[in-house]
Parts: sequence; C-alpha cells; structure tokens
Amino acid sequence: MKSIQAIRGMNDILPDATPHWQVLEQVWRELMAGYGYQEIRLPVVEYTELFARAIGAVTDIVEKEMYTFADRNGDSLTLRPEGTAGCVRAVIENGMLRQPVQRLWYAGPMFRHERPQKGRYRQFHQVGVEAFGMAAPDIDAELIVMTARFWRRLGLKNLTLQLNSLGSLAARAAYREQLVQYFSAHHAQLDEDSQRRLHTNPLRILDSKNPALQTLIAGAPQLTEHLDAESRAHFAQLCAYLDAAGVAYQINPRLVRGLDYYNKTVFEWVSGELGAQGTVCAGGRYDGLVEQIGGKPTPAVGFAAGLERLVALLQAAQPSAQIPPHAYLITAGDDAQRAGLVLAETLRDALPALRLTVNCDAGSIKSQLKRADKSGARYALLLGEQELAQGAVSVKPLREETEQIAVPRAELAAFLAQRIDKV
Ligand code: ATP
Ligand code: MG
Repeated sequence: MKSIQAIRGMNDILPDATPHWQVLEQVWRELMAGYGYQEIRLPVVEYTELFARAIGAVTDIVEKEMYTFADRNGDSLTLRPEGTAGCVRAVIENGMLRQPVQRLWYAGPMFRHERPQKGRYRQFHQVGVEAFGMAAPDIDAELIVMTARFWRRLGLKNLTLQLNSLGSLAARAAYREQLVQYFSAHHAQLDEDSQRRLHTNPLRILDSKNPALQTLIAGAPQLTEHLDAESRAHFAQLCAYLDAAGVAYQINPRLVRGLDYYNKTVFEWVSGELGAQGTVCAGGRYDGLVEQIGGKPTPAVGFAAGLERLVALLQAAQPSAQIPPHAYLITAGDDAQRAGLVLAETLRDALPALRLTVNCDAGSIKSQLKRADKSGARYALLLGEQELAQGAVSVKPLREETEQIAVPRAELAAFLAQRIDKV
C-alpha cells in the first residue's frame, strides 16, 4: 500500500531532537518564573476576523500565509499564525485587563503557509511574552534583558540585538507619505510585491527580503528622523536602560517588522549562523492593539521566539543531546524476568531520578548485553539463576574498565544512588 506522508513543512520532531526541545522548554519555564510571568494557554484555532483585524490586512501573513477554512457552520476559522492576537483576545474576553498589569507567556505551534526551507516551516513553534498595562520603556527593557538572559542560559553566543522605534501612529503616517514619494520615483525598480504595497502599506517595502531591492531600500528616507518627541524620549530611555544593563544593540532604522500592530519599540535578535532565516526572536510595543480588538486602550509590549531556529543553534553546538539510561536490566530465565520486573519497580520507588531501561522480549545474554551497550547505559544489571539464588544482582560497568561485581539486592538502590548523580 502507498505510504502516507506528513504535510510539507510540518515536521516530526524525532527523539534525536526532542532533548534539545526539552532543554529549551525547561530553561524557558525557569526564566519566566524568574521574571514573574504567568503561563496562558490559548486555542490553536480562532475566527479569521481576529487575525485580519490584529495583524493587518496588508501583511504577508494575512494576505498569503494563513491556513483559513470554513468549519461545518460556515464560520471562517484560521489556524493561528502567531500568538499575540489570540492572547489579546483572551485577556479582553476574560476581563484580565481589570488588573492594572499582566505579565503573560505562552508556547505552542503556529501555522503559516510559507515556502518551506531551512528555518521556515508551515507548522513551527514559538514561545512568547505579552506584558499589558505598562507604557514606560522600563518594561521594554525588561523584555530585552530577559531574552538576553535566555540566550546566556542556553549557551547561545553570537546573537545580535537590532533595535528601532516606529514612533507614534501620527509620525508613521507622515513618514509613510515620504516613503511613497521616494519609492514612486523609483517605481520601475520595485518588484511586484513592493509595487502593490506602495499604496497599501509602503513601510512593508522596507521589510522586503528581496536582495535586488536592498540598495534602493538603503537609500530610502529613515523613520528615525521623523519620530515624534515622545517616541524619541521613550527610545532614548530604553537605550539608556540597555546600556546600564550591559546589553549591546545595533540601531537599525530599516527594522519595521512584518506585522502592522507595532508602534515605538521594535527589536529582533539575529544569528549569523542560520543563513537567510537568521531572526530567532522578534518583538515590540503594540499600544493600539487591545483597543483595535475591542478592549479598553491598554499599552502592551511583547515578543516571540522561534523554537526551530533556536533548536538548530543548539544542535550545531551539540549535535546529540540524547540522555542515556543510567542502567539497563538484563534477565535470564522466566523466574529472573519476573523478579526483574519487581526489582526495577523497587529501584524506581527508591530513586525517582534513576533512568532505568528494562530489557523486554528476552534474548540471549549476549544479545541483551549488546542492547545494553547500544542504549548508552553506564551499567548493565544482570539477574540470572545464580544471582536469584544469592539474592544479588551483578553490576557490569559498560563505560569503564572495572570488573563486574555482585551487589546484594537490598543494597542496590544505595549503590546506584551514589553513582547516578555523577552522570
Ligand atoms: P521572518 O522574517 O523570518 O519571516 P517574521 O517576521 O514573519 O519572520 P514573526 O512573526 O515575528 O516572524 O515571528 C517571530 C519568530 O518566529 C521569528 O523571528 C522566527 O524565529 C519564528 N518564525 C516565524 N515564521 C516562521 C516559520 N515559518 N518557520 C519557523 N520559524 C518561524
Ligand atoms: Mg514571515
């Protein structure tokens, strides 16, 4: 029969990679607890209208990347392409903005119908933070120092922080006019996407990844020069906080981000080791979004990090992170097999941190030992007729040149306890 394949761009995450994912998730949870952020879990599917309103109709995501379908009632639903819109909907709907301040985090799969390539998938995963109710730049700084700590804890070096301010909505509108003028004067050089955006969303042209456009984009007027006084002060203060915290940044006037909802601060963390898909984390301030989704005006700032790209960096640093068992239990004969099952449970009772694999499906001692070795275990535990008669277990070190020894069954847990915390 013809085999069935996974959907293109939607990957299985196999056991050789899951340890890296687990490290990432654990470090993330500890980080969030350390900064006082609470987890929120949101549906993977929302009404299409939510994303159209939140992300902006003239964005890559809404124009061409959403997985949108009619459900059986004819409602238009969409697999979430990002986490912010759903989070904003949830905090409004659940009355959470009655609290003056909310610090929230989420994690999970996102879906975008993009061209799959290295670092770009159709189902991918993000962790993200949304902080509501704080207008001053100290919370912007908190999010950035938090991400810097995330990289340190993961042992990731060589990530650079790019920073920009998009200013107020009014400042952006004035800037928009200037951009339209500039790009209209070079209309023939624009690609099809950019020509279309010229009058719908010209800022997005600055975001283009088309190499042929980069010189033209480099010559465009800069938003930084058109910032309103308040945004300028906000940005200067943020930079001062980052200087004080020792977080290095590059101000990148071309950084406009792909989503419509940002104002003031925008930032990206970029790796030089991932090729074209180098951005591992992106975020910014979105003071207007809560109101746009139907809530009361509430300042907000957030970011999301792409886990596939972070895992790729972790894998490059350490290709295999698989965690081998401490011990592998081998038995010979029916009696020993039954006793082995009981012994294994007793050991797990005594040592919750013990990683013990029990050989199943019998096999000769030789083939069981082979499996034990292949598992990467440090010890093979052997239970045969002789050991049963002696009330002992033979412990055979598999990773060192020391002799096999017989350990009384009652002492085995203590014996292992002394050794497992070292691995
Ligand atoms: P890009 O410019 O790479 O398309 P984006 O601006 O569309 O990114 P955001 O919506 O800001 O990305 O998402 C935040 C992060 O999520 C990105 O920096 C990236 O690490 C990750 N990400 C976004 N889209 C994908 C994808 N299709 N596959 C894997 N990771 C992704
Ligand atoms: Mg994108």
